[in-house]
Formats: sequence, C-alpha cells, structure tokens
Amino acid sequence: MCPPDFFGVRYVINPWMEGNVDRASQANAQRQWQTLHDRLAKLARIEIVPPDPNQPDMVFTANAGLALNGRVLLSRFRHDERQPECGLYRKWFEDAHLEVLTMPDELPFEGAGDALWDEARACVWAGYGLRTDLEAHAEIESAFGFAVHSLRLCDKRFYHLDTCFCPLPQGFVMYYPAAFDARSLRCIEERVPPDKRIPVGDLDARRFACNATCLADTVALNHATEALQARLRSAGFRVATIPVDEFMLAGGAVKCLTLRLDETAPTNRQSAPANADDRQRVVELSGHLLDAGSLNRALDVTLEAGGSFRVLEFELGMEKQSCSRAKIKVIAPDAGVLENVLQRLLPLGAEVRNGKDAEARTVAVSQDGVAPDDFYSTTIYPTQVHLGGRWWPVSRQRMDAVVVIDRAGPEPRAECRLLRELRRGDEVVVGHDGVRTRSRAEDRTSDGNDFEFMGAGVSSERRVELAVERIAWEMRRIRDRGGRIVVVAGPVVVHTGGGPHLARLIRQGYVSALLGGNAVAVHDMEEAVMGTSLGVDLKRGVPVVGGHHHHLRVINAVRRAGGIAKAVEQEIVTSGIMYECVRRDVPFSLAGSIRDDGPLPDTEMDLLRAQAEYARLVDGADMILMLSSMLHSIGVGNMTPAGVHLVCVDINPAVVTKLADRGSLESDGIVTDVGLFLNRLGQHLQDDEAEQPIASNETAGYL
Ligand code: NAD
Repeated sequence: MCPPDFFGVRYVINPWMEGNVDRASQANAQRQWQTLHDRLAKLARIEIVPPDPNQPDMVFTANAGLALNGRVLLSRFRHDERQPECGLYRKWFEDAHLEVLTMPDELPFEGAGDALWDEARACVWAGYGLRTDLEAHAEIESAFGFAVHSLRLCDKRFYHLDTCFCPLPQGFVMYYPAAFDARSLRCIEERVPPDKRIPVGDLDARRFACNATCLADTVALNHATEALQARLRSAGFRVATIPVDEFMLAGGAVKCLTLRLDETAPTNRQSAPANADDRQRVVELSGHLLDAGSLNRALDVTLEAGGSFRVLEFELGMEKQSCSRAKIKVIAPDAGVLENVLQRLLPLGAEVRNGKDAEARTVAVSQDGVAPDDFYSTTIYPTQVHLGGRWWPVSRQRMDAVVVIDRAGPEPRAECRLLRELRRGDEVVVGHDGVRTRSRAEDRTSDGNDFEFMGAGVSSERRVELAVERIAWEMRRIRDRGGRIVVVAGPVVVHTGGGPHLARLIRQGYVSALLGGNAVAVHDMEEAVMGTSLGVDLKRGVPVVGGHHHHLRVINAVRRAGGIAKAVEQEIVTSGIMYECVRRDVPFSLAGSIRDDGPLPDTEMDLLRAQAEYARLVDGADMILMLSSMLHSIGVGNMTPAGVHLVCVDINPAVVTKLADRGSLESDGIVTDVGLFLNRLGQHLQDDEAEQPIASNETAGYL
C-alpha cells in the first residue's frame, strides 16, 4: 500500500474524477486509508511504498503491475499523468528483489487494475477496451505462461477490470454484468458455473463492491448491500465493509488501494495459454485508403467487432490518383472474434498476410451438404484464392456460399457453392489465409457530381425524381446494348396501380426476366380478368361487392387452363404483367410461400428448385429492379454478385436500407410508393417510344 500523503484529484482521466478536481479531503483520505491499512494488517503483512509529491494517484498501488510467482509485469499507463509512477514502482520492486518484466512496444497495460489472477482456474482475467490494450494480453500470457481470458470493458465508469470483476477463492467470481459486452459475458459464463457466479446490481457496482480484496476468507470492500453481503456469506465468506469513499472521488476503492505481492501459481496446474496466432493476423490494405475512407472503415470495423489493431506500416500515395498501402496487425480476444473481424475486413479489400502470400487452406467435406468448421463464407465481391503460388478467380460469385476447389483439370478451379450443394470429398476453403476480395469502395470518386446519389444511397422523396430519371437513362442503355434487366415484384405493384406500367416495360423490351411469388401473378391476373386487385376496383379505387373472392376465382380459372401460358393462349388472360411475359417470351419464376392461395400451377412450391431457377434468371443481369417485395428482394440480393446495379423501391425505409446497404456502390434505395415510381419511370421511358403514355386516370389505383 502507498499512504495518501499526496493524494488528491488533480486531473481528470476517468468519469469519477469529473467535477472533483481539488475536492478530496486530505484528512478523510488519511483516516480512511489508515483504517483500511489497520484492518488488512490483521490479515496480511503490508509493505509500504513511499508516496511521491507529484503523483497523486500513486496511492492506487493495484495499478503498479501484475505480480505472480515473485515476478512482476510492470505497468505502462495509458495516460501521461500517471506515466512517472512506472519508474518509481520499478525501483521499489527491484529493491524488494522482485524480477521486473516490461511490456514491449509501448503497449498500455495497467497492472492488477486490468489483470486479475484467478487461483481456482489458474488463469488471468484481463480487461481491455478502455485502458489496457488487447495486444498486451498476449504479453501477459507469455510473461507468466498462463491462459489469459480477455474481457472487453464497455462502460467508462468501470474503466479497469478490477472495478467490475473480482475472482474470489473457491472459484467464485463477483462481477457487474452490465460493464461487459455480450461476448465477454459468454466468456465468463462458459468458465464460471452458475453457482459460483455472484453478479452484483447497479447500486453495489456504483459503490465499487467489485473493487474488493479477499484475504483468507474475508472479502474487504467499500460497500455492499444487505443482499450482496448475504450472498457472499452464503458462499462461505466473511464480509468487511471498510468505507473509502474519499478515494471514490478519484475512481478507486479497496482493491485499487492494494497490490497483492503474494500470489503464486502452482506449476502443476498450469492452464495452457491459447495459441496467440489464433487471435491475431497481419492484413494488408491497398488503394485509395484515405480519400475513399477504406482505412477508417477497416479500423472502425475492427474495434466495433471487439478487436484491436496496430498499424505496422503505412505508405501514403501522394498524388490524387496514386494508391496508399497499409499493413495492420489485427488483434482479437479469441479466434471467433478474429474470424468475425476478418470476415468484415475482406470486403474492404483487406488481404491476410502471414509473411508472404499465404496459401489458401482447404479441408475435404466429410458429409454431404455440410461444410468443415471454419469454412470461409463468401461475400458479393469478386474473390480470388491463392493456390500453388498463384491467385485464381472464384466463379459463380454470390453471398453466403463456400468456395470449392476442383483440382481435376490441369489448373485448379474455384467456385462458390451453397452448403446444400456440397458433396463428400469436395475441397472447401477454410479460414481467411490466401483469400482476397476486391470491393468497389475504393474506386469511389469524390467529384461531388450529381450522380452521387448512385453511391449506395437511400433516396428520399426529394431525390426520387432525379433517381428515376437516372434509372430510366440507364435502363434504356442496357436494353439498347442487349443487356439484361431483371425485375423482382411483389403484389403491391398491382395494388398501387403500377401493373399497367410494368406491363408496358415488358412490352417495350426492358425486362429480361420477372421474379416474384404467387401473389403478384394472382393479383395481376385478377386485375386483367376482373378489373380488381384484392377485390378493389382499381379504376375507381373502391371495393367491389364479393370482390374478396375474385383472386380465388382467377386462381381457379388458371388452374383449369393448366397454367398461365395456357390461360393466355385460351384468352382467359388478355392483358397485364403475366400476359406480356407470355406474349414476349420473357421468362418468369414464381417462388412459393406458406401464405400462398391456390397456388397457381406455375408457382414453384419446392423452394430449392425455386432458388435455383431464380439464380439462373439472375445470372448475367446488369440491373435488378426490386419492387416492393421484401421476401423476394432479399432472396435475390443474397444470390447476386457485386457489380450488378440493384435498385430497391419500397415504402419502408428499413427494407430499402437493408437491401441497399450491401457495402456495394451499385445499390440504390428509393423510398417511395411503388405505383408512383413505376408511373414516373414509364413517363421517362416513353420519350423514345412510339406508344402513347398510359392515361393517368386509367391507372390511378388506390395509393
Ligand atoms: P413482403 O412483406 O415480403 O413485401 C412487401 C413489401 O412491400 C414490404 O417491404 C412493404 O414495405 C412494401 N410496400 C407496401 N406498400 C408499399 C407501397 N405502396 N409502395 C412500395 N412498397 C410498399 O410481402 P410480399 O412480397 O407481398 O409477399 C410475401 C410472399 O407472400 C410472397 O411470396 C407472396 O407471393 C406471398 N403472398 C401470397 C398471397 C396469395 O397467394 N394470396 C398474398 C400475399 C402474399
């Protein structure tokens, strides 16, 4: 312990200190510290570290280092204010004949504030995220040779692990769950059985009950509610509440005021440290890292996912057109988080580097339809795998697939396959080594031109007009060069009066394939045959008596005819979306769902077959118009590679955001009524066409 002769709140480096500068009472501090000292002296021998007039926080000796088995790993404080304490503590430890180890590379590490020895499990629990760097955890592991479990601190008030977590004898752990992220809580729960967990509530946590020290069977702490005291007693502990609230003004309590020097780890119960390689990787990013913002995004993604990073090298491209390059070490608390971080970095163009280009790793499938653990799951971006010293492109690119390597030919071939397509013996790429993707994000230009809305934006009403004009322009170009536009449509297209406009796009040759469900076809043909949609007269916008049966009558009629094409042939259906598809030989695929009435004979109720048919029709698309069907649009989005311009139109911004936000520049979201959208699109496209526009009173619908 270090006497509080020079204790005071002199600066602010944690939320507790805010508003308390120069407000701590020396007299109270002296009295409380002496009481604590005298009580603990009955249970332990106490060594005194001389205080320093310039170091008001030196009283918090817990932060000096982590001492175990006669060695101490010296702290390196994150804040400059406490940095000079390191030299003072080092001298004291050396004089006390403790072997002093130090952190390499200037890594922030705040001693037994953030690294707590758990005797029962022979492991160290270590905090990160606020003071100690995650990278330091591997150093703790190699200094002492015990497993370190990394816990991420998420509440700035609980800035050191010892403010919210306390391993106790007999395997008990007292902790404040709200201070941790979900993964860290899982990490605790996986290692500490329920009967050994002592979670504390807000009140105890705020009075630093977890900042306790346990000597023999006595838990000494600043405060504990009756309930917590009872819980500790039932676990077999005595409870000594020793108020040290004067020190709380600086954010410390009982544990902070002490450093255990006597902790020993039995050598025969050593918990093997995990392989640090499972938790870190070097990745390389190149391209327009600063102007396109991809470096920022990569670092943000790493931190958000619960990892940490160190930039090892950075070469800045000095000209507007020149590329930058960064080498970044990514550190994660466990292999699962590392996997997650890499998964999110690869679409940003990151390449995993282990020395030179790593070879992609593969594992053979041992059960049909089941991938090996740790399989690499694909994104929408063009991907390459590194095999035999060369990079090979992956074909059939799509999201949420696995990469299968076929070595039957003279050169290896890599292809995306769905889980269900896997067969025993297939060679599947696992992990992220030797895999790279290219996102278009770095091609971004920041010219600020009026096409900016095409940049994965979600257009508001004000911008809809501009967006529609631009989409019409692009559609005309695609059609004229023989490209492919695929339309995904839900029944709302018909309900909102958009049917005739979509039918006209088909007639004018804009649509290469139509994807939807049972409903869009049913309601389209209901309109064609009965003039209603869901029983509502579309011309007058009023319900028709008995109209709610209309769609069933139409389904029945089409079933009798033997399908949509036959119904057109037999002139049962003489206009509308499906009619134009049949007449123009535009292929369509209707995927079934559990809510389908009928269904129509054309609706594919085998969903695997429906997915395969969708994928076939999507293949080679230049543009996909997704019109008010969340279900079918998301399904199509998942099977579409980057590079295809997706236009998603929906009245619900959340649906639009979900579809437009694929991290891809080629998707646009337009929040508007789909009937209105099709109407405007039709008007823009009519300019070039011989046909007259559809009279607006003909298709008013109900909007
Ligand atoms: P969905 O919920 O997947 O999508 C409907 C979307 O339309 C929603 O995202 C919604 O926000 C949007 N929307 C609503 N009003 C809008 C407007 N005015 N303008 C623009 N967007 C608007 O539902 P879905 O695709 O209609 O149907 C899901 C499945 O259920 C499909 O397979 C469909 O065929 C089936 N279904 C069958 C029947 C039937 O057989 N009678 C009826 C309805 C749906």
